[in-house]
Amino acid sequence: MSISASQPQKPSSGPGTDSRTVTDRLVEANAKYAAAFTDPGMDARPVLKVAVVACMDARLDLHAALGLKLGDCHTIRNAGGVVTDDIIRSLTISQRALGTRSVVLIHHTGCGLLNLTEDFRHDIEAEVGQRPAWAVEAFKDLDQDVRQSMQRVRTSPFLPHRDDVRGFVFDVTTGLLREIDPRP
Ligand SMILES: [Zn+2]
Repeated sequence: MSISASQPQKPSSGPGTDSRTVTDRLVEANAKYAAAFTDPGMDARPVLKVAVVACMDARLDLHAALGLKLGDCHTIRNAGGVVTDDIIRSLTISQRALGTRSVVLIHHTGCGLLNLTEDFRHDIEAEVGQRPAWAVEAFKDLDQDVRQSMQRVRTSPFLPHRDDVRGFVFDVTTGLLREIDPRP
């Protein structure tokens, strides 16, 4: 039995009685956004010809942190900002079909992946009886993982533009980027 089915009907006003799901709230916010929206008439190709690869972390507001505006860049995000095959897929499309030339990689302090190991994957296998095909890509050393990510981009045969690839660690407490030297 669901919680909502087991609870008596509550009035729809007042604190703590909001029955909307989070998605309901997002859809409502979108209606307001669309009401004030005017078509910027933009091309799909990013104005600054840059792709930013970053962690999905909720504290990292890429556009605000990097002074980016709508239409400026591609943002490609996953857990950790790790350069996986799927990130390479997106970067390949970004460069070959949509004209980007520069790649910026951003990891951050306090990343959830710092506390995980590949045991995460084994535990899932034990629980559900199937091992995920993907690696967790957990890491203990932020700087080293940024270096590895830069290396993966720079050695990808699919990417035509590999000369402007820079990596950074974003400090979630100060908002500041720290650039990582590709050579340890
Ligand atoms: Zn993270």
